[in-house]
Amino acid sequence: MKNLILIACLVLTFSCETRQKTSKNYQKVNSQENLKKPYVLMISLDGYRYDYTKMYQPKNLSKFKSEGTYSKGLIPIFPSKTFPNHYSIVTGMRANKHGIVANSFWDTKREALYKLGDSTTTQDGSWYQGTPLWIAAENQGMVSASFFWVGSDADIQGKHPTYYYDYDGRISHEQRVDQVVDWFKMPEAKRPHLVTLYFSDVDSAGHKYGPESKEVKNAVEKVDQTLGNLFNRLKELDIPLNIFVMSDHGMEPIQEGKNVFLSDYIDINDPRIKIVGRGSHSIIYVENNNRKLINELYRKLRKSQHMRVLKTKRLGRRYGYNKSSRTGDLVLDMEAGYYMYHTKPVGKALSSGGTHGYDPALVKNMRGIFYAKGPNIKSLGEIKSFENIHIYPMIMKLLDLKITERIDGKKRVLRKILK
Ligand code: AMP
Ligand code: ZN
Ligand code: ZN
Repeated sequence: MKNLILIACLVLTFSCETRQKTSKNYQKVNSQENLKKPYVLMISLDGYRYDYTKMYQPKNLSKFKSEGTYSKGLIPIFPSKTFPNHYSIVTGMRANKHGIVANSFWDTKREALYKLGDSTTTQDGSWYQGTPLWIAAENQGMVSASFFWVGSDADIQGKHPTYYYDYDGRISHEQRVDQVVDWFKMPEAKRPHLVTLYFSDVDSAGHKYGPESKEVKNAVEKVDQTLGNLFNRLKELDIPLNIFVMSDHGMEPIQEGKNVFLSDYIDINDPRIKIVGRGSHSIIYVENNNRKLINELYRKLRKSQHMRVLKTKRLGRRYGYNKSSRTGDLVLDMEAGYYMYHTKPVGKALSSGGTHGYDPALVKNMRGIFYAKGPNIKSLGEIKSFENIHIYPMIMKLLDLKITERIDGKKRVLRKILK
C-alpha cells in the first residue's frame, strides 16, 4: 500500500512538472512610463471556426462577443496551420518573413527539420524571426507573461516573456486560469501588461470528430465555462484590462473517400526529394533546386485533380511565401475536404473528422474568430473580416510600444476599434 501511494505521488509530481519559468535577464519591474498603461490579455482558442458561436451558442463567449467588437471572421495566413498563424498574430508578419512557414518544414541552409511535437526545435529561438509582442514589451521596459503561445517557450533573440511555461497540453484549464488571475493580481510594479493564454481543446475535437459534432460542441462548452470563470474573476480586480479572444484558423470536414496518394503520381522514395507534411498542405524540397526535376514533379503531380501544385517561387506576395531556404520548391495545396497521404496507409483506417491548412483565400471554413472588449476598445459590434497580421500593430498601439522593424500588418486596419 505504502509503495502504491509512493508511486501515485511520483506520477503526480512528474505529470504536473510544468512550472512557471522566468526569462533570463528578465524585466523584473515595469518602467515608470509603462506603469500607467492599460493591460492586455490575448486568449487563443485553437481551431475555433468563425461560425461556432452561432452554431453552438456558448453562453459566455456569446455575451462577450455581443458586448464589444468582433470581426465577421479572422483570416489566417497561408498555410492555415497552428504554428505559422499563432506566430503571425504575435509578429504581424506572414510566414516567409517570420520564418515559421508550416507546422513542420525543412531548412536547406541549416539542413535541419523544424517539427511540431519536437520541443528541441519548437523551443529553439534560432528558428524564429520577427519580434513577438512579448519581446517588444520586454525590450521597452514592460513586464509580460504567457501561459502558452507558439514561440513563448523559445529563446527568441535570447529572450522569453518575463513569466512563461514550457508547452504541456495536459495542464488543466483551472491551473491556467488561476495563474492568469494571479499574474493580474501582482503588485503594480511587477504586474504584466501583456498576457497570453491558449487552449487546444476545440481544435483537437475538430480533428478527431469533425467541426459539426457533439464532441466539438462539448469542447466549445468546456472552454466557454473556463472563460466565464476567468472573466468573472478578472472583473473583480478592477484594472483597465482589454481582453481579446481569437483563433488561429477554422476547420473543414474531411470527406470520406476524398484522398490523394502522392505515390500514385511520383516516386516518393526518390533520394533527391524530401516531402514534409501531409493532409491539407505539404512542401517538396528538391536537391540543389534541380529545375528539371522540379518541372518533372510538377507535371506529374498536376495530374491529380484535387490538389493544386504551386511553384514556390511564384507564390509571391499573396502568401508572403517567396522562396527561401524553408519554403521548398513545390507546395501542394489540397482542395477543401481532401486529405493527402504520401502513400496509401496499409492496415490503417484513412483519416476522418476534420482538418485545416487549406488556402484561406479559397476556403471560408479556414476563418477563425476575433472578439475584443475592454476600456480601450470601442463597442462597434460586427466589423469586416480581416487578416490576422493586423492584430500586432493594434496591440502595439494599445500598449503604446514602438514597432522597430518592417512588418506586413497595417495599423490602419484596426485603428478604428481603439478608443
Ligand atoms: P495543428 O496540427 O495545426 O492542429 O496543431 C495543434 C497542436 O499544436 C495542438 O494540439 C498542440 O498540441 C500543439 N501546440 C500548440 N501550441 C504549442 C506550443 N506552444 N508548443 C508546442 N505545441 C503546441
Ligand atoms: Zn491551430
Ligand atoms: Zn489543428
